[in-house]
Amino acid sequence: MSNIPPTMTVAMAHDFDDIRLESMATPQPGPGEALVKVRALGLCMGDVTPWYVHKKAPLVIGHEPTGQIVQLGAGVEGFKVGDRVYFHHHAPCLKCRHCQNGNYVMCQTWRDSKIIPGGAAQYCLVPANNLDKDTLLLPDSMSYAEGTLIEPLACVVRAFRRVHMRSGDRVVILGLGVMGQMMAVLARHLGASQIIASDCVPFRLEHAKKLGVDRLVDFRRESLPQVVAQETNGEKADVVFVCPTTPEAFLEGIECAGRSSRVLLFMGPAAGTKLTVDMNKIYFDEIDLLSSYSCGPDDTREALRLIEAGVSTAPQMITHHFPLERIQEAVDLSRKAQDSLKIIIDID
Ligand SMILES: [Zn+2]
Ligand SMILES: [Zn+2]
Repeated sequence: MSNIPPTMTVAMAHDFDDIRLESMATPQPGPGEALVKVRALGLCMGDVTPWYVHKKAPLVIGHEPTGQIVQLGAGVEGFKVGDRVYFHHHAPCLKCRHCQNGNYVMCQTWRDSKIIPGGAAQYCLVPANNLDKDTLLLPDSMSYAEGTLIEPLACVVRAFRRVHMRSGDRVVILGLGVMGQMMAVLARHLGASQIIASDCVPFRLEHAKKLGVDRLVDFRRESLPQVVAQETNGEKADVVFVCPTTPEAFLEGIECAGRSSRVLLFMGPAAGTKLTVDMNKIYFDEIDLLSSYSCGPDDTREALRLIEAGVSTAPQMITHHFPLERIQEAVDLSRKAQDSLKIIIDID
């Protein structure tokens, strides 16, 4: 395409509260690569977590973009200029021991891969392996904004795989940000017999109620473990998802767990965060303590299918749109974690 400008605008995070619009050379696709005109970007808590930004700054934030292919390097097959795509920021090798076992997120190639320079940019370079292994065509019916939900929903899909969710399971969710809300939707879709969820933000509790959560707990007013025990005749939960990263939240999750249950840590705590658990309970109740980090190409395909089928109720998860120029405002709103769920940056 002829009208690709030599420089582009990006959102550079110097700190989580210091995001500046800067100019950068527009990347040029080499063999097997694609240049995508970014059209929408979902903001994620991971993008704005202080310890994470401190570790990586200065960086172009954003890992939930969608856009349109505007240029292809030599030898690309399966894509053409004009394709509307979701592209994952990490892609596995499909050859190593972890990939062979389906644990794509543990693959070193996956860990080392990234989109260039990051999602909050007018253009993104999709490296050959990312294009080949985890770039998906958006169906015509799916907007760019909806497409940004593929990555976060795929993380939820992976979490449900990790806990071996079964129809009839009693599910407890701690934290009703957009990920917790998606967990509620997926739990119902997969046949949960009971869903109990907690938060302290009225907007988020109300939103989850509309999605059909059976029992909501404002943890400032009620004890979640007590409510879970009451609502399940003392048997407690089969599956517990813990979204907050504090040891207190994880311990509360374990308190909600019944016999032969799974408790899953969904987001990344800072290095060195310590947890003290009652080993007696873990042993005699056979409680599996698990984590789930990000998602692989099998999860993104499943997420796209779910969104297309209307299962994720994607439009309901998007509460705000901002232009790239106002990304700091959008990040501040996201970090406040109040009357918002998924915030989309629209990029021209
Ligand atoms: Zn994310
Ligand atoms: Zn691999």
